[in-house]
Amino acid sequence: MSGSMSRRQAIEAVTTYSVDTDGFSEPLAETFGRNVFTLSVMKSRLPKNVFTAVSATIDKGAPLDPTLADYVASAMKDWAIEKGASHYAHVFYPLTGFTAEKHDSFLEPDGTGASLAEFAGKTLLQGEPDASSFPNGGLRGTFEARGYTGWDVTSPAYISENPNGNTLCIPTIFISWTGEALDKKTPLLRSQQAMSKQAMRVLKLFGHSDVDTVVSFAGAEQEYFLVDRHFYFARPDLMTAGRTLFGAKPSKGQEFDDHYFGAIPDRVLAYMMELDRELFKQAIPAKTRHNEVAPGQFEIAPIFERANLAHDHQQLMMTTMKKVAERYGMVCLLHEKPFAGVNGSGKHVNFSLGNANQGNLLNPGDTPHENEQFLVFCAAIIRGVHKFGGLLRASIASASNDHRLGANEAPPAIISIFLGDQLMDVFDQIAKGGGATSSKESGVLELGVDTLPPLRADAGDRNRTSPFAFTGNRFEFRAPGSNQSIADPMIAINAMLAESLDHIATFLEKEVADGTEFNAAVQKVLEEIIVEHGTVVFNGNGYAQEWQDEAASRGLLNLRTTVEAISQYDEPDIKNVLSQYGILSNRELQARKDVVLEQYSLALLVEAKETVEIAKTMILPAANRFQGELAGTAAHLRAAGIETEHPALLTLTKNIKDLYAVLLGLEDFIDQFHGDTVEDEAQYALTNLIPAMSAVRAVADKLESIVADDLWPLPTYHEMLTIL
Ligand code: ADP
Ligand code: MG
Repeated sequence: MSGSMSRRQAIEAVTTYSVDTDGFSEPLAETFGRNVFTLSVMKSRLPKNVFTAVSATIDKGAPLDPTLADYVASAMKDWAIEKGASHYAHVFYPLTGFTAEKHDSFLEPDGTGASLAEFAGKTLLQGEPDASSFPNGGLRGTFEARGYTGWDVTSPAYISENPNGNTLCIPTIFISWTGEALDKKTPLLRSQQAMSKQAMRVLKLFGHSDVDTVVSFAGAEQEYFLVDRHFYFARPDLMTAGRTLFGAKPSKGQEFDDHYFGAIPDRVLAYMMELDRELFKQAIPAKTRHNEVAPGQFEIAPIFERANLAHDHQQLMMTTMKKVAERYGMVCLLHEKPFAGVNGSGKHVNFSLGNANQGNLLNPGDTPHENEQFLVFCAAIIRGVHKFGGLLRASIASASNDHRLGANEAPPAIISIFLGDQLMDVFDQIAKGGGATSSKESGVLELGVDTLPPLRADAGDRNRTSPFAFTGNRFEFRAPGSNQSIADPMIAINAMLAESLDHIATFLEKEVADGTEFNAAVQKVLEEIIVEHGTVVFNGNGYAQEWQDEAASRGLLNLRTTVEAISQYDEPDIKNVLSQYGILSNRELQARKDVVLEQYSLALLVEAKETVEIAKTMILPAANRFQGELAGTAAHLRAAGIETEHPALLTLTKNIKDLYAVLLGLEDFIDQFHGDTVEDEAQYALTNLIPAMSAVRAVADKLESIVADDLWPLPTYHEMLTIL
């Protein structure tokens, strides 16, 4: 046996695991925000004028006078040191989608042999991590490796705890010395500003002249799997690829839906409680927790926040989920498809837009047909999803998310929009001309039991198969993957909104200038949009084959793979919308495209190599041992004149031969991996590596069902998914 734990040992270890916690003594309410340099902390520690300036930047997007940074830095340092911090870190979000940080000590020599805690304004404002090894799509050669981090005033600093000392974390952007974005945060902030500018033009037309900003809000539902760490360490594929590359389907999978919203196992619930507590310390408003569809699958959803903050919180949430799982002897899997044939994990990005004065601009009220302002914003989204479906699809492209989109589950790769009965009806009326005159009413549910208080029915039902659905007062983009940063989808949403709202504002401004009455102009633009773009609305079953055909006839894109999806970044409309609104220059976009493709090829190459390794060093040896055993049995049977041929041995031998053959095929493809460009390499991985890996897996999974169970080296699907 190798150094790793055997499958038998893993099962022993898991089933004897018991949760060991001392319980929590601190009330939850006191925990909330304890580790965050919040507005209220700033209010109590900053001179009044400095505080006013900082809060105007956060609330209204006003620029901050850099000379004030010294005051903030000093207060931040004192607060952090009181909280036990010895170091500070600029935290940034490189193109890999992960979170990066570089730590520096507060202590500096004071020249007399002693040291002094220092943290100047300029250190808060700007850092220079070396960080030259992050993929940057050619924006920065290692020889010209300067890259800067810059303080993001709108996302509060926080303390990250470690048993050996704490760190002050400062959310930042990350740019090259030419000023080009090397991260996901810079374009997110730019897209937010672009959307705000156009949304304010529209609001002004509706008579709201007192508007400072319009913000996009995001609430991301996060799905995840938990597996016991002993199983994890007995599965090299989970360790290197984040997903199982082998594994026969269990005889009982998720068919019964008995896990969904079922009672949460104690150990998992203990994990969830500690997770909530850790998130609360960082003022991350975790709200909902429950089992998901697949066994071993769960979900956590926070209350929505400004998209920028929601992004940073979401990143920190993923890190925290993994960290806390370790304390409970488990591993948190965020891969989009850790187990083939079992439901995958997504991250539904719910979004809306609004501000302090107008509230949520996507709130239809009870009679949406009379709510012109709502209809205009809603129409902007319909138009955006139709015009920029390709951008939305590209924003969520990755090797791992391809297992969901374009495979037979989750939302399909076709980007359509679901409006629900009530809104659909209103827009149908508008499309017919002459405006909408009624809204379907929400009802009361007839329960047939007098003692039950009446329940209200929403005016529109939900559709769980739509990638982009209206859900009452927000839209839900359901296609992002569980492991992805929400930055890219939010950038795409903000960009499409900026363009649509610009179009609408320009149209209305001109009509009004030409003497059209405002309401008539609004009706005109709504009608134009729904007639031209209504084809993107689909309220039916997105999983059905008929939809694939229907979508094709409507001219909607169906981009099943990352390679196809990412080529959307070459479309002139998409390049233009991103550069025109100052979100991403053509060079920055090209860099992003290259990084996604590079990561795609790399992920598949790693999987392919791991497939070979496991097949050769774990599966074939097990199969050969069993073959030896069977050969012995067969010889005895033959000698005793009971049987001349042993059928089980024949089947096994055939499968072993098959496995050798397909393995050779895969190894050849790995050896010949090449391409003149990143596109070529990705295309090579798609057309050669994926099918060759599937071929190996198919035979190996067959072997799993015929090799003696006590010889099989890998924990099975059933074991990993149900023993928690
Ligand atoms: P469901 O599973 O039914 O979609 P959940 O309660 O699990 O609903 O998650 C809903 C998510 O939507 C939460 O993250 C919530 O904060 C977010 N959300 C609710 N209202 C808004 C809104 N106006 N804007 C953005 N996100 C919202
Ligand atoms: Mg949802």
